[in-house]
Amino acid sequence: MGAGRNRGSRNRKKEKILAGKTAAVILTALLLATGCQSRYQPIETSAAQPEGPVSPAETDAVDKEPGGVIQTGNTGAPQGPVSSETAAAETSAARETETAETETEPAETEPTTQAAPEFAAVDETVYITGNDVNVRLSCSTSSDVVATLNRGASVKRTGYSEEWSRVVYQEKECYIASEYLSTEAPETLAAAQPAAEGEVRLDPSWKYAEFSKINSGAAMLYKAEGANRKGITVCVNAGHGTKGGSSVKTLCHPDGTQKVTGGSTAAGATTAAAVSSGMTFADGTAEPKVTLAMALKLKAKLLAAGYDVLMIRESDDVQLDNIARTVIANNAANCHIALHWDSTTNDKGAFYMSVPGNSTYRNMEPVKSHWQQHNALGESLISGLKNAGVKIFSNGAMEMDLTQTSYSTVPSVDIELGDKVSDHSDGALETLADGLLAGVNAYFGQ
Ligand SMILES: [Zn+2]
Repeated sequence: MGAGRNRGSRNRKKEKILAGKTAAVILTALLLATGCQSRYQPIETSAAQPEGPVSPAETDAVDKEPGGVIQTGNTGAPQGPVSSETAAAETSAARETETAETETEPAETEPTTQAAPEFAAVDETVYITGNDVNVRLSCSTSSDVVATLNRGASVKRTGYSEEWSRVVYQEKECYIASEYLSTEAPETLAAAQPAAEGEVRLDPSWKYAEFSKINSGAAMLYKAEGANRKGITVCVNAGHGTKGGSSVKTLCHPDGTQKVTGGSTAAGATTAAAVSSGMTFADGTAEPKVTLAMALKLKAKLLAAGYDVLMIRESDDVQLDNIARTVIANNAANCHIALHWDSTTNDKGAFYMSVPGNSTYRNMEPVKSHWQQHNALGESLISGLKNAGVKIFSNGAMEMDLTQTSYSTVPSVDIELGDKVSDHSDGALETLADGLLAGVNAYFGQ
């Protein structure tokens, strides 16, 4: 995924964090010297923020710094928000390594201390009310940032003034802008600890991972930054786009049984292409190009609407077969939407691949436990598209036994947004993305 994974803001951020990194090194040394390093995690953050604690929309969250490879370790509860504990641990470990490498960097900054305000003595627990709130060494927005804390984190407050609060952070006296503190705990703490942004690779211990044959690539998790963040992760899977994928075969079903419908692989087959190459539009455009353009548009709209987005592919080639894509989505997302265009030539309209009404298939796990969710998601997406003015084929569904569906443990849909002669101009994709977003909103009751 290379350069494609980094948004422009990250490069700017990287320049700004150098001073903070140095501060973290100094602080690490201080803490080591005083023997209180036990829970301290050096955090790369911006010491150059001009306005003290920053609003969630203005900055990358602390845990969005590239922290190496993340294998989101969500092992259970596939329907709930993605567990972040393992990812956070991995990221912390990676940061420790990074910091160790930078310990030779010279100190460049000196904290500036302004006259301390009058504090009313208090002794209470207070909670952080925003994300990326700076904990500073002194009462000044130019003072060193000890850490940034997210919504729901708690600290002990020992002194209060209108502008600044004196707090104890990891046995150290620090300061936080009072407007970002509350004595009331936030209602939804779950959203305060999202999975860390970054690469998500196939963890071989995940259920069904062993059925994948092509899995050296990585998906990329992006987090919404606005105050409207929902704590729901949508996997956006740009169909096709795996070099060599059509010459490798994987099992259609985890239990080795035969496909119950035709399609790109005939009924009765037990194996299918690990990832097919896709069709070519009547105007000569390759389907994977269009599914990628569609995925990028949908990603932007989902993030703006407050969804976290797991992007399976952001370049022409990702080495993840359909099973790897599905298992990654199962473990790092709350739903999975694969984008496709069909190979017919009559502009028949959009539809989703519904779970076949075949009792053997619907009794095979994990289909048995999830087929109703797949169909419900598909129906929501179709109604969203319909309301956006997109032409819909028939009743919007076509029964299909797909590898994706056969391994999915989260609501999962292959949606065909048109066919070889459908308009795939930028404007058409924009409309489709609006419709899909509306469908996602409807599915999650947003
Ligand atoms: Zn396709």
